[in-house]
Amino acid sequence: MNIKINKNFDNLSENYLFSEINKRINKYKETHTDANIIRLGIGDVTLPLGKSVVDALVKASNEMGLKDTFRGYPPEYGYDFTKMAVKNYYSNFNVSLDMNSIFISDGAKSDLGNIVDIFGDNPIYIPNPVYPVYLDSNLMSGRNIKYIIGTKENNFLPMMNDINDKNSIIYLCSPNNPTGGAYDYEKLKEWVDFAIKNESLIIYDSAYEAFIANDNIPHSIYKIENAKKCAIEICSFSKQAGFTGLRCGFTIVPLELESEGHSLNKMWKRRQATKFNGVSYPVQRAAEAALSEKGISEAKYNINYYMENAKMLSELFDSKGIYYTGGKSSPYIWFKCPNAMTSWEFFDYLLDKANIVGTPGAGFGTFGEGYFRITSFNTHENTIEAIERLKKIL
Ligand code: PLP
Repeated sequence: MNIKINKNFDNLSENYLFSEINKRINKYKETHTDANIIRLGIGDVTLPLGKSVVDALVKASNEMGLKDTFRGYPPEYGYDFTKMAVKNYYSNFNVSLDMNSIFISDGAKSDLGNIVDIFGDNPIYIPNPVYPVYLDSNLMSGRNIKYIIGTKENNFLPMMNDINDKNSIIYLCSPNNPTGGAYDYEKLKEWVDFAIKNESLIIYDSAYEAFIANDNIPHSIYKIENAKKCAIEICSFSKQAGFTGLRCGFTIVPLELESEGHSLNKMWKRRQATKFNGVSYPVQRAAEAALSEKGISEAKYNINYYMENAKMLSELFDSKGIYYTGGKSSPYIWFKCPNAMTSWEFFDYLLDKANIVGTPGAGFGTFGEGYFRITSFNTHENTIEAIERLKKIL
């Protein structure tokens, strides 16, 4: 065939992180058949859905089987009841949202990948290290990428020092995957002020918002004055309520956002109406239930469980005096590999000496080299056992 393909795909690096991890584990198991391997690399929730979410799913599924309550295509932007649940959830943080600014989707990853459709060619600033979707979706659409760098000096919370353009698109992720770092009010205000001054747009990924356990850290960028004039917020039910397998998220595109005389809200609306056909009725009922008072308290139970693991892991790093970020308002702990090991060297060392699997920092960007991510999504029992093993080798 000689059809022209999207050559921008050549600019993507091989998506090898998790396949390489599995390859190394399998190789290790060949020669260590009885190794009891503990996985602290898990980036997925492990506890089941809350009862109110399951009840809502069952009820809505039954409705779909009855003539009077059957529903066909959902609205592309979400049912009003789901949008109202999001609006009410934000009002808990004293953020007031216009119903028309809320777009329900099948998850944050889709929206983060698709949002590039509404932009032309702009300077793009992406944190390094960070969740790889921002980079890859911009590379696929032929954008030139610049980085805002996370280092030990800024506690992996990159600021605007590296930005020398106006009219840029800036990605921020808080609480961050993989570093677990989160911007406090002061730092986020600096970002909003900077974006307004430089006529730039922030794309704010708040997928881990529900893990925030500190009053100094905002749950939404719209807690900051003027943010509706410069920021799109993308969030998810995945980590908040365990929807990684159900799939639901939402994006907020404020009506105030305008560029070159165009409303970004109208453009996103047009984009979604063309390329997306909405989230299924049972899943939206489940999402509504997840944001009810009972749903939130059930989800909190699971989050507290993960955060107890994070606390135990943090205490280990505190006691060893090893530099780390995260673990306080995030399920992730990001730490410096000992003895100047590279992140893959440390991966092998940890697997061999402690039978523990984590995620090498280099998989999240060049500035992740020399660092390592472990997560709190395993059981208490396995986490405690992992800590005992880590104590001996760190
Ligand atoms: N944003 C960040 C920072 C993530 O870590 C993830 C998933 O791990 C997502 C978004 C994807 O969320 P969703 O499951 O809603 O697609």
